[in-house]
Amino acid sequence: MGGGAVVMGGGLAGTLAVAALLGHVDTVTVVERDRYPERPVFRKGVPQGRHLHVFLSGGQRALERLFPGIVAELEAAGAHRMEAPRDVLTRSRNGWHRRLHEGRHAVISCTRPLLDTTVRARVLAEAAGSGTRVEVLQACEAVGLLGDAERVTGVRTRSRDTGRAERDLPADLVVDASGRGSRAPRWLAELGRPAPREEVIDAGIGYTTQMFRPAEPLPMAVVIEARPDLPRGAAWSPVEGGNWLLTLAGMRGHHPPTDGSAVPDFVASLGEPYLRDHLGTCEAVSPPYAYRDTANRRRYYHSAGGVPEGFVAVSDAACTFNPVYGQGMSVAALSGLALRECLADGGPRRPGFAARAQRAVARAGETAWLTAVGADRPYVAGGPATPPGAAERLQTWYFGRLADRATHDPVVGAAFRDVTHLAAPPTRLLSPAVALRTVLLPRRPGPAGIPLRVEGAAG
Ligand SMILES: Cc1cc2nc3c(=O)[nH]c(=O)nc-3n(C[C@H](O)[C@H](O)[C@H](O)COP(=O)(O)OP(=O)(O)OC[C@H]3O[C@@H](n4cnc5c(N)ncnc54)[C@H](O)[C@@H]3O)c2cc1C
Repeated sequence: MGGGAVVMGGGLAGTLAVAALLGHVDTVTVVERDRYPERPVFRKGVPQGRHLHVFLSGGQRALERLFPGIVAELEAAGAHRMEAPRDVLTRSRNGWHRRLHEGRHAVISCTRPLLDTTVRARVLAEAAGSGTRVEVLQACEAVGLLGDAERVTGVRTRSRDTGRAERDLPADLVVDASGRGSRAPRWLAELGRPAPREEVIDAGIGYTTQMFRPAEPLPMAVVIEARPDLPRGAAWSPVEGGNWLLTLAGMRGHHPPTDGSAVPDFVASLGEPYLRDHLGTCEAVSPPYAYRDTANRRRYYHSAGGVPEGFVAVSDAACTFNPVYGQGMSVAALSGLALRECLADGGPRRPGFAARAQRAVARAGETAWLTAVGADRPYVAGGPATPPGAAERLQTWYFGRLADRATHDPVVGAAFRDVTHLAAPPTRLLSPAVALRTVLLPRRPGPAGIPLRVEGAAG
């Protein structure tokens, strides 16, 4: 062990990066622009925190490895753990997914404030016995990087309190966890290092979320996916305290309303009377909140020469995803684990550490990136820059057919969920059993009406 790290941003990814660093460096200083609230409530620095956030099973497993027992802790605090597809009924473009009791994947659903507070408390508790001293500087903003083109040696900070004092924090490793608005590309350029190449795939999704309190809660969450002829959807999911979140999403021209009185009409337009009628019995306990910055955006820090020594970007600062796939927090957990494994293989002072860690972080988000951009590419405004070649057309045909078959075929459905829950790489979709069923068996629709009855264990 040795050296010191500075983590820019104390959101979920920053907190998980601290977890990874415990026991591997002498000190960790977290620089967080906001002040943390005393209770688990919304805070400005995480504007997406008002929207529905589910933790996929692949991410949960990574979170459990970082903090054994955390899922039970979240459940004890009021989070809901729901098995998919049994407790998360999903209508796809090919009809509903069968309501199977598959027993492979579960999602966690709670508010972001509850999740963030629980994880932060756990990290601080674990820091106590780790040998690493953790200091959290609140109301303190990172405003630049120190060092040169070859090595980042620290962070320039500015207090947000009166006086706005500046302070330089030296570090052997700087972790950028400042989220999608990260200014690190500009700061690296100021040090003479080229900013990373950036790729943006934007399906033009708009989001609106409103909190409700049902008189009689449903025994399951409901997801209605957008489809080409109806590019709008919804998710209805329980959170702690007897409340439920309704998230509405729509592509360009179909953005959901931001006026609460228009929400029922948008829900009615989805053509799902069961959800519409249920919502009619619920009391709205918040106004609707909108969010529009939903593009998939990847900064290629992991390419050759992408990062100087002493600098690693994680989670949203490196890669963001269209939130409808519910992947960002899971990728933060998978990245935290990847960072910890790199640290175990030699501390941050070891030559080449930054590039190695950055590649490991990119691998941790690879499945999420491939699935999100694969699904969104056809919806980019103006179409793809170059017409898709034969290989890409074949890929689109195969994955479209596979997603349709997943609604009713237990073998294909299990593989589909393994990948979409980030518990297996996309190659899982090419296994012989899955490929043969996808290609040879006839395409038929999933159930037409919402499947309220649970089917037995999947065969
Ligand atoms: C609408 C929406 C819905 C989503 N739904 C899901 C979902 O269902 N499931 C899922 O897994 N993911 C979801 N995500 C993604 C998820 O919100 C993020 O991936 C996750 O929060 C990880 O973010 P982060 O910690 O990297 O960044 P953030 O959450 O953005 O945190 C960044 C932190 O850095 C601080 N900060 C920023 N700049 C500075 C600075 N210069 N100096 C100091 N501090 C700074 C901020 O105050 C903040 O605390 C959703 C995202 C959106 C937008």
